[in-house]
Parts: sequence; C-alpha cells; structure tokens
Amino acid sequence: MGGNRQHKEAHGIVYLLPKKMSELNIAKRKEKCENCTNQCNKRQSDESAIPNLEKEETNGKGNEGSQLLLSACLSCDGCLSEEDSLRISQQNLEEVERVLELNKRCDASKHKLLVASVCPQSLPFFAVRFGLDIYEATQKLCGFLKGLGVAFVFDTTLAAGFSILETQKEFIQRYHRKHHDSQALPMFTSSCPGWIRYSERVLGSLVTPHICTARSPQQIMGCLVKDFFSKQQKLSPEKVYHLVVAPCFDKKLEAVREEFYSSLMETRDVDCVLTSKEIYHLMEKRKVSVEELNSVPLDQVLGESGQAMLARHDGRGSEGFLEHVFKHAAKELFGVDVQEITYRTLRNRDFQEVTLERDGEMLLQFAAVYGFRNIQTLVHRMRKGRVPYQLVEVLSCPGGCLSGRGQTESETAGRIDKALVQQMEEVYSSLPVRLPELNPILKTLYLDWLQGQDSAQANKLLHTEYRNQSHTQPPHMQW
Ligand code: SF4
Ligand code: SF4
Repeated sequence: MGGNRQHKEAHGIVYLLPKKMSELNIAKRKEKCENCTNQCNKRQSDESAIPNLEKEETNGKGNEGSQLLLSACLSCDGCLSEEDSLRISQQNLEEVERVLELNKRCDASKHKLLVASVCPQSLPFFAVRFGLDIYEATQKLCGFLKGLGVAFVFDTTLAAGFSILETQKEFIQRYHRKHHDSQALPMFTSSCPGWIRYSERVLGSLVTPHICTARSPQQIMGCLVKDFFSKQQKLSPEKVYHLVVAPCFDKKLEAVREEFYSSLMETRDVDCVLTSKEIYHLMEKRKVSVEELNSVPLDQVLGESGQAMLARHDGRGSEGFLEHVFKHAAKELFGVDVQEITYRTLRNRDFQEVTLERDGEMLLQFAAVYGFRNIQTLVHRMRKGRVPYQLVEVLSCPGGCLSGRGQTESETAGRIDKALVQQMEEVYSSLPVRLPELNPILKTLYLDWLQGQDSAQANKLLHTEYRNQSHTQPPHMQW
C-alpha cells in the first residue's frame, strides 16, 4: 500500500495522498477541465453564443464544441481550491482503515465509535453486484461493515425525510412571499452537491438566493449522528467517526464544507464519504465472498427494537423532492389532493415538467432538470427571465442519483454503465414507498431532538446557507 502513496506538503504539514480512485480521476479530470475552460472562455467572448447554444440544444442538434462544453462541465475537480483538494484526498479507504486500526490498539484515548450511514441509492448497486434482492444485499453489506469494526449501520432515508419536510415548508413560505420578494421563486432543490458547487462557484448570485436552504439528506444525517446519536451514546461528537456510503464523489466535497465543521469540537458532521465502488473495492481487496458474509439487519437511530424497515421515497431514485413538494403544495395552497403525478417530457427524459391546472388556470408548474446539459438550458432561460417554474428539482447526474459516478462509471472508458443503471432502477423501485409525514420516528425526533417542527433548533440543524463564491474562482477559471 505504501508504494501507492505520494507526499504533498502544504502549510508545513506533510499529507499522504492515496493513489486511489479520486487521485486517478483528478488527473483525468484536469484534462477535461482545461477542455471545458477553453471552450467556455471562447464562448464567453462571444455574446451571441448563449442564444445560439439554446437554439441548437432545443433542436437537439448541438455542434461538437457545445457538446463538449456542456457535457464536460463539473465532471472534473478543477474548481476546487488546494485546501478542498487536500481535505477530499483524505476521504479514502486508508483513512477509515487507520481509524479501525487505532481502535484495536491499547490507547483508549484514540478510540472512536464507528458509525456508517448508507444512502438508499447505493443499496441497489450492492444488490446487483451481489446478485441478491435489495433486502438481503443490505444485510450482507451491513454484515461486512460490522465485520470491519463499524458499530452501527444506518440508512439515510430518515434524514432524507427531514430534508423533504423542510423543503416542503420552505416552498410554502417562499410561495407566500413571491409578490414582494423577486428571489423567492423559482426555488431550486439543494440535495445535490454537484449542482450546489456549480451554483456557488460558477453561477453565483443569479441562482444562490433561489436555492432551498434545507440541508441535504447526507448533512442532516451528519447532524443526527453527531448531535443526537452521540448524546444517546454518552459520547462527545469527536469520539464518533461518521462514515457515509454514497453513490457519487461530489458528496465528499459536501462533507468538507466549512459550515459542517465544528472548530470547538474539532469534528465534522460527516468524517468520511466513500463511494459504493470504493466499498466494493475494499471487499475485493479483502477477498470477501458474499456467501460467507453474515446477514445483519440495519440499526435504528432511536434504538427501537425490531428490524429497520427499508423503504424509499416517491420519485425516480433521488428521494423525489419534486413529487413530495408538488403534492404538499397542491393540498396546502389549493386544497387539491394529487394521487398520481404525470410527468411531461419536454426536451428529453431528464427535462420534464409537472403541472396542476384548474379551470384553465395554471396553479403549479414544476420541473425536474437532470444533467449539466439540461442545467445549462435552465440557466440560459433564467438569465433571460424566462423560467416559468415555481420549483425545479436539479440534479447534476443525467438520470439522477442512481447514476452517480461513484457506482456507475466503468473503469476503463470512464463511461456510465447504462445496463447497470437500468438494473439498479428496477431494484430501487421494488422498495415500498413511505411518506415522511407518516413516519413516527421523524415525529419523535422533531419533538425530542429539535424541540418542535418550527423551533430555532430545527432551523439551525436542518438548514444551511448557500453563497455566491464566483468571485473566489481563479481568473483562468472565471466564466
Ligand atoms: S467548470 Fe469547473 S468543474 Fe466544470 S469542467 Fe470547468 S473547471 Fe471543471
Ligand atoms: S445527482 Fe449525482 S452528483 Fe448529485 S447527489 Fe445525486 S449522485 Fe451525487
């Protein structure tokens, strides 16, 4: 393993950089980044480029240059500062193995309680790889993690429930102030860190005030583990090491954001994010066979007895923020009960619209916009003041979270394994749907942990702030 490492010195500290997936990808991605930046600068110098681009896209006949620009953007880490890159490079298997190793030593002062939270979008990956149904695969994954020395394994659906409820609430508030606040609507969802990075660093104040302030499922899970769960365990937060298993690399970037670090406690809400594939590689490295793994049920945050029930939220595999907010808003604002949502495909499967009409009047108009090519179109319309939507669910991966590159990118060509995505979609849809409003655990946690649904504590722990950081881009990266 030592031969796989490089040393890097910054601020007088020598960091060990693992020669692993993230590093290999950075080399590959830098190349893409230059492509993107060159293409981008060329286009920015030509004012007429934007309308042309939209026209070309609308016709579905983008030329080669525009395709390169649109599809390459944000698939690299070129926008990262040196510090971000260093923090992310520390989120790797070696770091987790180091913590596990310290737990085996006699010095108890260095011991940490390991807690793993698995995103529901990662579970279908393991089901397909193991050749098992999602329930059995989850228990095998849990058995593997516990065999490593992880003490508790949760899934992040509970945290996603908080995120959905807070997003619904914020949408209603924004809707009511739309006449005196020009930035209230459209509201953009905030669960995708790839989209957030692009908004903050490239789009800036055009978009940031419109982003919903609800924390993402990952970061609410971080709070739940480091604030609520650590207290339950009678441990201070820095004595808990929180690992998240996620479908994409972008979640690593989210975990290292400043606001999710407590300088007082010297701890992060999420200490390390590993992608589904990184976990799978660890299994391969340790020559683990699925048959030999113990089947262990997931743990429950409240410590309830019985097995944690696997369930999903509505939608195509990305927690269904659009669907939940749409149904909630239809009922809350117009007294309409929406049972089934019908998507209308506009440009492609990743740019769809949902509407609610009554007597010829458009009451609600929402859109799901996935992938950077579609996001670019949305942004061009935003610049022209031509976005008719009140809410847009934005995700940077075409196809949504099941297509995250941390589980679907083929190793040789760097392409998305579409057959795998299709299998995962089938597996994911086999899970029962559960409404967060009906989840009694969320109700209990709102009361016991957050002192009520509209409390200052709920606002502090379940929300965050997104800022215009476009001015912090180095000049060669400015768009
Ligand atoms: S915009 Fe940033 S992330 Fe996207 S390709 Fe360019 S440098 Fe990379
Ligand atoms: S859309 Fe992609 S980048 Fe965004 S959270 Fe989902 S998997 Fe990650």
